[in-house]
Amino acid sequence: MVVFWCRFSGRREGRNEKKMERRVYLDNNATTRLDPLALEAMQPYFLSEYGNASSIHAFGQQARAAVERARFQVAGLLGAKDREIVFTCGGTESDNTAICGVARLFAAGSGHLVTSGIEHPAVLKSCQHLEARGFRVTYLPVGTEGVVRVEDVERALSDDTILISIMQANNEVGTLQPIAEIGRLARRRKILFHSDAVQSVGKIPVDVKQLKVDLLSLSGHKFHGPKGVGALYIRDGVQTEPLMLGGSHERSRRAGTDNVPGIVGLGEACYLASESLDDLKNCVAPLRDRFEQGLLECLPGCVLNGTRDSRTPHTSNVSFDKVEGEALLVALDFKGVAVSTGAACASGSLRPSHVLQAMKLPRNRIQGAIRFSLSRSTTVEDMDYALEKVVETVTQIRSVAVV
Ligand code: PLP
Repeated sequence: MVVFWCRFSGRREGRNEKKMERRVYLDNNATTRLDPLALEAMQPYFLSEYGNASSIHAFGQQARAAVERARFQVAGLLGAKDREIVFTCGGTESDNTAICGVARLFAAGSGHLVTSGIEHPAVLKSCQHLEARGFRVTYLPVGTEGVVRVEDVERALSDDTILISIMQANNEVGTLQPIAEIGRLARRRKILFHSDAVQSVGKIPVDVKQLKVDLLSLSGHKFHGPKGVGALYIRDGVQTEPLMLGGSHERSRRAGTDNVPGIVGLGEACYLASESLDDLKNCVAPLRDRFEQGLLECLPGCVLNGTRDSRTPHTSNVSFDKVEGEALLVALDFKGVAVSTGAACASGSLRPSHVLQAMKLPRNRIQGAIRFSLSRSTTVEDMDYALEKVVETVTQIRSVAVV
């Protein structure tokens, strides 16, 4: 995989980039680089096979065939049936459709939802939107390890619970939630279960039947597919109200002309992901662990956030004592290392991470937190460079800090 990515490194070098020794991208939970093979698969659908997949003529039928092939690829990665996959414009739309689309089947104000305090804003804001319309929502706490407890989910359920929505992998700390156990509980109690799997699909094996989910969200750009395209798995027989109204696209579950190149790219990304899951487990996770070990050995006063027992292979969240996360991010950026202080949509706001707050971490630990997120294209050299720069920068920041 590494060799393959190196072959593609024909990017334009910016002026700033020339001054830097190296550029290392460790913000793959925000977005990933499009896989060149996905780009190659997409290209004909911009330039020659540009028909509308709903048209009857040959151009349209070629586009339709490509969309259905991609549906097969997405379904294949999830262990789903083709007809259970609905294409969307990304993780946010999938989450909104799952949550609001289920709630809209019930009279306003006549239902209860269960979610957690560490969900992505695409889930939290959907729940808040429903709360403003009279639905009740329980936001479950998590322990300091960043994991939802199944007992808490069970305790929160009531006779009018219409939906449980718990993410599979947290985007900030990478912790994996006990989705299969919650799925079994939901099935037993006959309550619909949605999981935001935007940070797990393409990173770890995800099988909708094993997990017993009724709805599951994914997004192409998080695993080397294109931006602006995602999918929602809707189990056969589960009803949702569409959010997008118009034509009868996607079997009347999502109106709007199909984004054929995007869908083709998503399908290809799913296929490529299925081929590289082992790389993430066997190559990326050890790189991440080695990096963390290096930090712990070289820097006093740094601590890992979130459980190390059950997490995605590519995410590391570290708090640095006596360092502001934002200051470290900016200083690392000058040295060519791209990291994040949390969710991309929250950066720039200087608001403390709601995930680390929900984990009840002390204030200084929240303020000094940095997320390093790797991908299958991250190399040993990238991580060695990042380690060197983080150690050097944290030491510099601490040395000038007013005590
Ligand atoms: N859910 C999670 C867990 C995410 O990390 C993200 C993106 O950061 C989303 C949903 C939203 O996905 P998209 O950017 O495709 O709208």
